[in-house]
Amino acid sequence: MTIQKEQDDIFLPEGELLTLCYDFLTGHGLSPSQAQALAEILCKAQRDGCRSHGLQRLPGTIETMAHPAFNHTADPQPVELTPAITRIDADYGFSTLAARRGLPSLLANAKQIGIGVLAVNNGFHSTALWPVVEEIAENGFAALSMNPTHDWVAPAGGRRGALGTNPIAFAWPRTNHPPYVFDFATSAAARSDIALYRQEGRAIPEGWGLDAQGQPSTNPANVLAGAMLSFGGHKGAALATMIELIAGPFIGDRTSRGSAAFGEGASAAPCHGELFIAFNPAIMEASNRDAGFPQDNAEDLFTRITDQGAHLSGDRRYRARALSAKKGIAVPKALYEKILGMMAFSGPVK
Ligand code: NDP
Repeated sequence: MTIQKEQDDIFLPEGELLTLCYDFLTGHGLSPSQAQALAEILCKAQRDGCRSHGLQRLPGTIETMAHPAFNHTADPQPVELTPAITRIDADYGFSTLAARRGLPSLLANAKQIGIGVLAVNNGFHSTALWPVVEEIAENGFAALSMNPTHDWVAPAGGRRGALGTNPIAFAWPRTNHPPYVFDFATSAAARSDIALYRQEGRAIPEGWGLDAQGQPSTNPANVLAGAMLSFGGHKGAALATMIELIAGPFIGDRTSRGSAAFGEGASAAPCHGELFIAFNPAIMEASNRDAGFPQDNAEDLFTRITDQGAHLSGDRRYRARALSAKKGIAVPKALYEKILGMMAFSGPVK
């Protein structure tokens, strides 16, 4: 999308960036524990070159915190529903603190009984999913995470939004390499990408969306007013439907329609549930030696991907991470100055 020239960036050490985000959020009245959890996720995205979900999200947190239901001092506590299932109510704060606090139970359950399920309810959410699944995999477990958003996406063959952009992330633990991780929306393109095309006065590629009359359109403004499309036609739409169901009704939370209705009239991040599942490969490991050692087979698969020069999901981020460790974390100067300007006008800590 927009090419960011390196001379437009400043480079900050991770600690400094974390302090900047934390001070921004607490300055706008967010509790220290919520601010810490959100700041960590935003900094990780910025560090790994996922700019759309890094510091760029910081100014928008003010609009989310202005939602009438937003709870600046939410103090989520996990509840064990069964030996496998943990629920944690984000209580209308940002979902990141709830996910952080639910993680120990999820990991303990996966270790003990082979699988752990964590349901986060009622959280305002607009961050990338990969940081949490990567952390689960670093603990030795495979992981899935998903959530609905707002109902901006038409089903295959439909004309109106009925599904969210519904991201899904997966991670697999590896021994001598950081985890294999993928994380993407089930829409053909992210909504923020379409907004960027509109801003730049450019047509979007065919297949990304429909206008308000349900006709295919390459006009970004018309698609934002109409409906987006999922990736892969009916396949992406079916995946998005599954996400609506298991990260919505299954965990007793909103679908993307409910989330949109809740957000009506406010420019806050979507508020909904989030599902995490951790699987313990060690439980199965000893059960079928005829098929070979599971980790060896997994590594063989990764080698067969990389041997032909294909990209292994997650590796771009790991390369960006290594560069950040060497040079500092790149932040666009204009964004940095915008954030500093918004800090100057921030209110007292509540
Ligand atoms: P992309 O379409 O850019 O896909 C990104 C993923 O695909 C990464 O895992 C990336 O790996 C991998 N990938 C990219 N190219 C290749 C390739 N050629 N071969 C193999 N793997 C590849 O992502 P989206 O724009 O759909 O989503 C971006 C982010 O937005 C995600 O982090 C998602 O969580 C977030 N999001 C969050 C929402 C929310 O509700 N909070 C809603 C929608 C999106 P690599 O890391 O190596 O680049």
